[in-house]
Amino acid sequence: MAENKGIMVYGEVTEGKLSAITSELLGGGRHLADELKEELMCILVGDKLDDAAKKAISFGADKVFTVEDPLLKDYQTDSYVSVMEKAVKETAPRALLFGQTAVGRDLSPRLAFRLGTALAMDCIELSIDPATKLLQETRSVYGGNARATFCSDLLPQMVTVRQKAMTPLAPDDAKKGEVAAIKAELDPAKIRTKVLNTVKEEVAGVKLEDASIIVAGGRGIGGPDGFKQLEELAKALKGAVGASRPPSDNKWVPESWQIGLTGKIVSPEVYIAVAISGASQHLAGCSGAKNIIAINKDPEANIFKEARFGVVGDWKQVLPSFTQKVKELLAG
Ligand SMILES: Cc1cc2nc3c(=O)[nH]c(=O)nc-3n(C[C@H](O)[C@H](O)[C@H](O)COP(=O)(O)OP(=O)(O)OC[C@H]3O[C@@H](n4cnc5c(N)ncnc54)[C@H](O)[C@@H]3O)c2cc1C
Repeated sequence: MAENKGIMVYGEVTEGKLSAITSELLGGGRHLADELKEELMCILVGDKLDDAAKKAISFGADKVFTVEDPLLKDYQTDSYVSVMEKAVKETAPRALLFGQTAVGRDLSPRLAFRLGTALAMDCIELSIDPATKLLQETRSVYGGNARATFCSDLLPQMVTVRQKAMTPLAPDDAKKGEVAAIKAELDPAKIRTKVLNTVKEEVAGVKLEDASIIVAGGRGIGGPDGFKQLEELAKALKGAVGASRPPSDNKWVPESWQIGLTGKIVSPEVYIAVAISGASQHLAGCSGAKNIIAINKDPEANIFKEARFGVVGDWKQVLPSFTQKVKELLAG
């Protein structure tokens, strides 16, 4: 096998479009590759990948590898693991970056096993040790209460990276890069499962994972009606609504709104936590937010330890005037 070199991003493509996480990984990967003075590569698996390949170059990739086959149109574990194993062996990157997404979480551990290497999942920061050129992989541990940095000397080093942990570069459509095709050589007999149907989650407004502003409510909201006020504020801010576990367990809100250890992990610019105590299992899902604003009637609530700004008070009094002020400021 050739000497392992360069940073490789696994690019996710949905309906022909490069996903947001891929542009984030390319942004982070660009810095790592520059530090190593090596290439930033992106690998795309699917069908009809020309547009996505151009986009990957505009977001910073020097070289894009495509593995195209009609059988690869939709993500499917067996076929994707098989073509990725072949592609990684052929291209021999030093490090391989995946998003901490449904696909990344399914594909990367299986691939790491096949390649006989190690995988650090849900990383929030990556850097290069200049002495060894090895990736230092920082993850949040103990339900978000501490951070730990890992380093494996097995190559390629493999990581999944939390959404919004890295910042995309501004796309440059004039940037030149190379696109190279890798043959899929798939054996259809080895594909044991089939995608029969895909059900799209109905989302009114911005998707929680993509929102740069999130207004989240907790048990203290008291019921589904209270969430209507949170929705009003989120709408004014062009954000999304989330929740801690009790509102979701009590069916006040859809399950898909739950944020935390057993819910979604989000990293918005602003996270407004309303009547949420700040349990570690909740913070595991939102501690990546750049700014947390807490509204809670208990001055001792743990959320205030994490919050950049806090209001001690009853949300029923604070929120209407806050929403009103936001609307006025945005209108003016
Ligand atoms: C294995 C495991 C996994 C878990 N996963 C998750 C997860 O993914 N996500 C998650 O959120 N939790 C999760 N939990 C549950 C977690 O431990 C907490 O129980 C939960 O986060 C508490 O939610 P909360 O803050 O909304 O409720 P509470 O802890 O009950 O807090 C309610 C808060 O509202 C405030 N409040 C009440 N009324 C008002 C008012 N009128 N105005 C202002 N403030 C008010 C109170 O002061 C209090 O701070 C998990 C637990 C376990 C054991």
